[in-house]
Amino acid sequence: MSDAILKVRNIETYYGPIVAIRGVSLDVQEGSIVTVLGANGAGKTTILKTISGVMDPQKGSVIFDGQEIQKQDPDWVMRQGLSHVPEGREVFPFLSVYDNLMMGAYTRKDRDEIARDVELVNSYFPILKERSDQPAGQLSGGEQQMLAISRALMARPKVMLLDEPSLGLSPRLVKEIFAIIKRLNVEQGMTMLLVEQNANIALHTADFGYVLEVGRIVMEDTTANLLEKDDIKEFYLGMQ
Ligand code: ATP
Repeated sequence: MSDAILKVRNIETYYGPIVAIRGVSLDVQEGSIVTVLGANGAGKTTILKTISGVMDPQKGSVIFDGQEIQKQDPDWVMRQGLSHVPEGREVFPFLSVYDNLMMGAYTRKDRDEIARDVELVNSYFPILKERSDQPAGQLSGGEQQMLAISRALMARPKVMLLDEPSLGLSPRLVKEIFAIIKRLNVEQGMTMLLVEQNANIALHTADFGYVLEVGRIVMEDTTANLLEKDDIKEFYLGMQ
């Protein structure tokens, strides 16, 4: 659909001579959660890195909010309203939880609004308020994931890119974090592109899904339809 806030068109991205992404196209409609499912090494992280400007595609384009961004650097892309929550969280371990949140707001000058947004993210992740003064490196894996999402929210993005938020977390925490992801979408209207190996939780959270195999999109549909497909049940949901 042409009115998508984020449009990826036929991107091809390489690591040196090795092609990781082979002609991937996808759309993210404003106000939706879109997921890209794929096994280890399928190229999910590379898609997000190409969108956020960490990697340049050799071919193809990325159109965000009407502008071509595939040649721009990550800082510029972030300032346009695209926030990337990388795989493995990457919080600043020696900074306090509060200072990590402030790092997320470094492009902003509206102090009152920043303070209000700290309250807002704390209302979604109350544990972070309790840990506000602690170094982020002392948080558990789940809390660091919460902080990484909160830090991205502090930039007031139009779209968030989430790289495997379930990685390394217990089933209970995965459920908790995805429930908050869904609430952010429903209550704040946050648009999200979520890449995941955990197909079950991703398909039950997102509105639309793409399936990536060895760098190519092999299937795309609403998540309701994908959940009904035999191939998805067999290969991604572990049902026979
Ligand atoms: P994972 O969930 O394991 O991160 P992924 O689906 O995100 O998997 P990518 O990390 O995007 O996959 O990797 C896609 C392909 O590119 C893989 O074949 C991988 O081996 C290769 N690749 C990734 N990073 C590099 C690198 N720095 N140098 C060379 N090849 C790489």
